[in-house]
Amino acid sequence: MSNFQAIAFLIAAICFIMALRGLSHPKSARMGNKFGMWGMALAIITTFTLPVVQEYIWAPVAILLGGFVGTRIAKSVQMTQMPQLVAGFHSLVGMAAVLVAASAFLDPNSFGIVEGESIKAASLIEMGLGAIIGAITFSGSIVAFGKLNGNIGSAAKRFKGQHKLNAILGIAILLLLVMFTSSQSGSIFLLMILLSFIIGYLLIIPIGGADMPVVVSMLNSYSGWAAVGIGFTLGNTLLIITGALVGSSGAILSYIMCKAMNRSLFNVIFGGFGTAESESAEGGEDARVAKTGSPDDAAFIMKNAKSVIIVPGYGMAVAQAQHAVREMLDILTKEGVDVKFAIHPVAGRMPGHMNVLLAEANVPYDLVYELEDINREFAQADVALVIGANDITNPAAKDDPKSPIYGMPILDVEKAKTVFFMKRGMAAGYAGVQNELFFKDNTLMLFGDAKKVTEEIVKALED
Ligand code: NDP
Repeated sequence: MSNFQAIAFLIAAICFIMALRGLSHPKSARMGNKFGMWGMALAIITTFTLPVVQEYIWAPVAILLGGFVGTRIAKSVQMTQMPQLVAGFHSLVGMAAVLVAASAFLDPNSFGIVEGESIKAASLIEMGLGAIIGAITFSGSIVAFGKLNGNIGSAAKRFKGQHKLNAILGIAILLLLVMFTSSQSGSIFLLMILLSFIIGYLLIIPIGGADMPVVVSMLNSYSGWAAVGIGFTLGNTLLIITGALVGSSGAILSYIMCKAMNRSLFNVIFGGFGTAESESAEGGEDARVAKTGSPDDAAFIMKNAKSVIIVPGYGMAVAQAQHAVREMLDILTKEGVDVKFAIHPVAGRMPGHMNVLLAEANVPYDLVYELEDINREFAQADVALVIGANDITNPAAKDDPKSPIYGMPILDVEKAKTVFFMKRGMAAGYAGVQNELFFKDNTLMLFGDAKKVTEEIVKALED
């Protein structure tokens, strides 16, 4: 690699670091994305100038084709489908790692990894590890995609001896890796990849709906490490740096999510967390009758309140109610009401989901509070207005050790004088657990689509 190419790779790596930094705040996120795009463009162009690249037709064709499909998907996908999109893309990174490892194994001369008659031992370890992590990422991401997309039930699926089976498979894969390194056998390579596909599936199926955010960020991390494996196989330093950035930032995000969800990172990695049995998920409708209110009631009570805390959730994203919510905020603020937003770390379907929506509607950042900064204020609030959120307010997380969401911190909305729950019906949240708050004395249900109901509240406030 020439000095020029090394410098270009260094600049691309700095762009990726700047991208991660930019993405850490809604204000700088757009800039962060641009840095990522510039970095990637530079990385691709520079790669084509490397002496190892000897083919200039198929790769650009593949890039154009992939870019076209990716653009189509990105343009058509709804914001609420982002998590499954991300999981789907992670599966592609995983499969890419497996395919690159397989190509290197089948045609080691093109990769310059041959020493004498056989492949270098270090290269065998690198391609073996890349293939294992890639295969786990692939099948794990497919399961995560299925759960998030509703193709597979979101409840945790467990069977007796699951952890033992995982442990046996894990040990077998490591032994196969050792055997592969010494024997360079194709059948061992195949078996190792097959077992990795199986363990990837087994690690994700026991994880229930409410814990999926941690899984998605963990798979993000795995996909980064798989890219590191490819980077070593291809001898591409930038890919190693980029993979390490994705791998470590995904691991840090998983750690933060685990803390927010009160889960253990160790258990996430070994696919056994959510110690509560998922069978207790009640789901579905409840025969009891909850008190209902009207948009007029909500407008009247909020207009006369001193303080209102708005809790947005997945339903706000589905309804795209954020702009109507902003209008409501403006009117209430003009009326002298103190309005704040409470954001749960796993509200919606991806980390920062609610922040993005509120930022899109130009809700001032200083009105948006994280769970730990606002939870104490519910006790003094006159109104908690829950817009399409459910699990993140569910007290089963505190009271019911058998609940799949047990241990997850929640927003204490029930402590407010009056709680309005805006949702379309009595359906459970993503974790499939019924919410006792709907039947509390201080709760009034506002049934309907979140955007429509919020617009009706705005109209009532204006009248
Ligand atoms: P939930 O999924 O628990 O609840 C959302 C509620 O919104 C539903 O009960 C639904 O009730 C209601 N809703 C849906 N559409 C509309 C609409 N158009 N108008 C009004 N209401 C609507 O969401 P939360 O945000 O409370 O919790 C997030 C859940 O998702 C957690 O379990 C979390 O673990 C999980 N998760 C989070 C991820 C993340 O990274 N943030 C990733 C993956 C999963 P109804 O049908 O009756 O209207």
